[in-house]
Amino acid sequence: MNFRKTLIVGGGLAGTLMAFRLWQNQKPFLLIDAEAGKKSSAVASGLINPVVVKHFGLSWMAEKLVPEAVKVYKNLEEITSSRFFHPLKIFRSFHHQEDTDLWNRRRQEEESGPFFMEEAPSPAPLLTHAPWGGGVIQNAARVDVEVFIETTRKFLFQKELLRSDSFDYKLLQPSRKGWSYKGDNYGHVIFCQGIRSVENPWFQWLPVNPIKGQLLKLHHPLLSNQQAISRKIFILPQGGQSFKVGATYEHSREDGNTPEGIQQLSNGFQELIQEKGDKAGLDITGTYYGFRPTIPDRRPILGEHPFHKGLYVFNGLGSKGYMLAPWFSEHLYRHIFEGILLLPEVSLIRYK
Ligand SMILES: Cc1cc2nc3c(=O)[nH]c(=O)nc-3n(C[C@H](O)[C@H](O)[C@H](O)COP(=O)(O)OP(=O)(O)OC[C@H]3O[C@@H](n4cnc5c(N)ncnc54)[C@H](O)[C@@H]3O)c2cc1C
Repeated sequence: MNFRKTLIVGGGLAGTLMAFRLWQNQKPFLLIDAEAGKKSSAVASGLINPVVVKHFGLSWMAEKLVPEAVKVYKNLEEITSSRFFHPLKIFRSFHHQEDTDLWNRRRQEEESGPFFMEEAPSPAPLLTHAPWGGGVIQNAARVDVEVFIETTRKFLFQKELLRSDSFDYKLLQPSRKGWSYKGDNYGHVIFCQGIRSVENPWFQWLPVNPIKGQLLKLHHPLLSNQQAISRKIFILPQGGQSFKVGATYEHSREDGNTPEGIQQLSNGFQELIQEKGDKAGLDITGTYYGFRPTIPDRRPILGEHPFHKGLYVFNGLGSKGYMLAPWFSEHLYRHIFEGILLLPEVSLIRYK
């Protein structure tokens, strides 16, 4: 049995789920996270969507990822006595008859197609512009990311398993028992740093690219809060009459929301929602932005450093972190502690 302690660096979604895997398996660990650091996980829409909205195919590994995500988030709700996981349906609006034909064809192509996609066309929710009806994605969900981050952090803090601090690379040194950091020894160090992995002297070579996303939050008294609505953008219910609208996808490293980003989202919203009267009057209650940690081949990146044994990475969650992280935190856990082989598509060796 391996009782050596594990150090996790980075407390976004990846680091938090890794921490809970260790906690549930009674493995000792410490999570270090820079409180002031900007987390992609805290600004995300938190949508778990098994269907690619552009071409209606099932998302990569959706049939495995979605059931594991449901299990993990529900379990974490129980552990932390909170509520942040909300099953929901997504309405994808169609603008041509061909959309209906393509949707129904895709639905039949894969075994789990009918589990995730209702037969089209379905009628549009109130106010939605969908001249040909639409397709309904079922067994989707949203995670209320603010509640998720807040309650999981509180839980780990109270148990003294989370330290709010900036990790200092210079202080991590190889030792006889693995790695030492500030006087403690660790058998494994797992870096879950999102876009900040480029600062990491051991993992700088990983191609983690920041892709900026901007979001709006708005208030609307009439939209359905039972279904998300999508076409070029998403309108995602947040409870009550509050909705998130997003997200942009920008190859930019510039901090902050921009007038162009806000305009793009407002236009997307107004194309999707038909309203009589004043079109300019969106009741925007908040704007957000963040950077998705993305890998060129759009797959997560996991595994042990090829030369420095005991140093691991869990990153590359891209645009779908909330769907990917539950299954892949288990996958990495089992690789480290049970010796299973990583899927070649996600192993960091592909970029060595
Ligand atoms: C606008 C937007 C919308 C999105 N919408 C969705 C969505 O609807 N569904 C979905 O599944 N995904 C979505 N995503 C993607 C999702 O947010 C990411 O895939 C996921 O959050 C990445 O998590 P992470 O833990 O890898 O990174 P992060 O959340 O960025 O966490 C990394 C953490 O590491 C810490 N850290 C780094 N270096 C150090 C150090 N040296 N010392 C201490 N701490 C350190 C940082 O401070 C940070 O807290 C969206 C992203 C954006 C930007």
